[in-house]
Amino acid sequence: MIMQNMNLFKLCSALRVLGYFMILLFAAIVILTYYAVVFVTWGPLLFPLSSSSSFFSAFFILLLFHTLLLLLTWSYFMAVFNDPGSVPLNWTPLPQLPAVAVPPPSNVEFELEEAASTTTPSTGRYCTRCQNAKPPRCHHCSICQRCVLKMDHHCIWVVNCVGARTYKYFLLFLLYTFLETTLVCLALIPSFLRFFGVGGAKNHKLSPGGFSAIFLASILNLAFALSLLCFIVMHLSLLLSNTTSVEVHEKKKGVRWRYDVGRKKNFEQVFGTKKALWLFPLFSEEDLENIPALRGIEFPTRSDVDV
Ligand SMILES: [Zn+2]
Ligand SMILES: [Zn+2]
Repeated sequence: MIMQNMNLFKLCSALRVLGYFMILLFAAIVILTYYAVVFVTWGPLLFPLSSSSSFFSAFFILLLFHTLLLLLTWSYFMAVFNDPGSVPLNWTPLPQLPAVAVPPPSNVEFELEEAASTTTPSTGRYCTRCQNAKPPRCHHCSICQRCVLKMDHHCIWVVNCVGARTYKYFLLFLLYTFLETTLVCLALIPSFLRFFGVGGAKNHKLSPGGFSAIFLASILNLAFALSLLCFIVMHLSLLLSNTTSVEVHEKKKGVRWRYDVGRKKNFEQVFGTKKALWLFPLFSEEDLENIPALRGIEFPTRSDVDV
């Protein structure tokens, strides 16, 4: 048992180190792609300033490329540096309770539901490693070594857990990265094909370094675009049914999920109610105050679902 714990500890430490490597990898891919798109392919078409059609397409592609790059980097850093949600220090109702036959505190009805759903109701939802009671939908992350509110998963790309407060940032990061990688594929593949003379004249202007950058950036961006598409479809279905990646395994087949309160409300629990902020990694003060799910402790449940 001790050996198993040691191995698990080593694995978690290794994953943490891998996370920092992933930040460097992310930066390297961005720099390579930037070089291929801006310096090798489309940037040179802006000079000399002219009214030719290639000038306008280069201007449009570079404007879109930089806008998406800004949005994806902003969402990325918000997901990396923000706390996904920690259990408040004073939120410890269970340790004060005798083990059995005492109802949970009346101010936290949702805990009753969680305790009832566990196989060992007498222990409730308590994290022995953090020594705190666990609110509903909260899970312990072995890599962060702490409990995370409405934990979705630990993401090695953002070196952080994705939880109640950061799920929106993570989803925007996925969306903008998918759009950016798709744009890069569309912007680079014509130059790539021209180099081999596909579709007419050969692209003799490309240096071997420039061609290598275009080749590598095209392959990497295509691979990311395809895998992100699958990931986005999966998270969209989770978002609209108000389910976390962890809860997919808890859901009973054929029973409507207890936190599924309708697509619009499910969406607003993650993205907020302010339409103007839906596309930005931000929340209004009002939403943070009025939407309990964003604080990660209380979650409205369907009244017609048997919990
Ligand atoms: Zn914990
Ligand atoms: Zn984590």
